[in-house]
Amino acid sequence: MNQPTVQLYNKDSHKKTFEAAVLSCVQQTEKACKTNPGYVVTLDVTAFFPEGGGQPSDTGTISGIPVYDVQEDDGIIYHTLAAPLTAGETVTGQIDWERRFDLMQHHTAEHIISGLVHKYFGYDNVGFRMGSEAITIDFNGNLDETGIRLMEQKANQAVYENIPIETSYPGPDELKSLNYRSKKELSGDIRIVTVPGYDICACCAPHVALTGEIGAVKITSCQKYKGGVRISMLCGTRALQDYNKKEKSVADISVLLSAKPDEVQEAVKSLKNENQSLKDRLSELQTQILNYKAAAFPKGTASICIFDNEVTVNTLRNYANLLMERCDGICAVFTSLEEKEYKYILASKHMDVRPIGKSLNEAFHGKGGGSKEMVQGSLTGNRESIEEFMINSCSAISIY
Ligand SMILES: [Zn+2]
Repeated sequence: MNQPTVQLYNKDSHKKTFEAAVLSCVQQTEKACKTNPGYVVTLDVTAFFPEGGGQPSDTGTISGIPVYDVQEDDGIIYHTLAAPLTAGETVTGQIDWERRFDLMQHHTAEHIISGLVHKYFGYDNVGFRMGSEAITIDFNGNLDETGIRLMEQKANQAVYENIPIETSYPGPDELKSLNYRSKKELSGDIRIVTVPGYDICACCAPHVALTGEIGAVKITSCQKYKGGVRISMLCGTRALQDYNKKEKSVADISVLLSAKPDEVQEAVKSLKNENQSLKDRLSELQTQILNYKAAAFPKGTASICIFDNEVTVNTLRNYANLLMERCDGICAVFTSLEEKEYKYILASKHMDVRPIGKSLNEAFHGKGGGSKEMVQGSLTGNRESIEEFMINSCSAISIY
């Protein structure tokens, strides 16, 4: 039976390499591990943090062999490796420091933000995810823009103060008198992580040694979530990368708009206004054109079937309304968006157009419906077949 692993990260979160003796190595069956079949290795000591406290497990190498996954069970840490090691040999472990440091920065900032939100608003952290894109924290109460910016400013203040982070294992009596945050019922030795003045929380994960290591703390979004809010947060290098990305985006927009970067908002507003004016003008011109087109049919015209791709989907109904006034039979208008795809309208002031609409849909895989006076829909078919159908369905219909 394996002995509990000495967990080096508990005392020194900045330990990047270490030497250890291999205690066991077992080939993992594919069934037991679907994602990364490999070799499960236990060591006497390790700096690899297993998944826990909301923080993903470390990656890295042991004697040059990639470590995929690290899990803890009953005090023993299990490393999943790509190749086997021999029990008894001495190995060198190296954790992926860039990744671990990034996780510690975000995790420690999560403590500070959670402590601050609890102190200022009384809300609890009820969910925490460390994704590859952003870190999210869920709170069981609402935060508005002012509250978010206050929390962000206070968290960055904690960074400027460069406070040493403390870890301790208080006894049962001391724990009873300690007001700490905890995500679940805890048993055994409770590890308390304190950011003095900001947060006290039971947590098993490694954190930065000084708050100054976190770098910038930026809350990038706050959305309503399950009666509270979900905030997204970026720290350190990721916050800087996000700033660079957004800065480039504004710079690119500013070139496109020929506006200074701090004037793009006004430039977009005037572009939108200009666009609306053009839309209004286009609509006026379309109405004029429809009036001219409709005027080509004298009052008292018999049934007509028009194929006109210049009539847009938006103006189809207006055109049908104008034609109805001039037509004693049925007026049908078809407009094609792409080959064999038609939007159509059938209208009449004198007869029920629904039966023709229904059989038209049946004949051409169409859909749509409407009132006795007007049916609108879409269908698939070639023009000749549609013309033939209309000629057979309406007596004395003229095709245009
Ligand atoms: Zn923690």
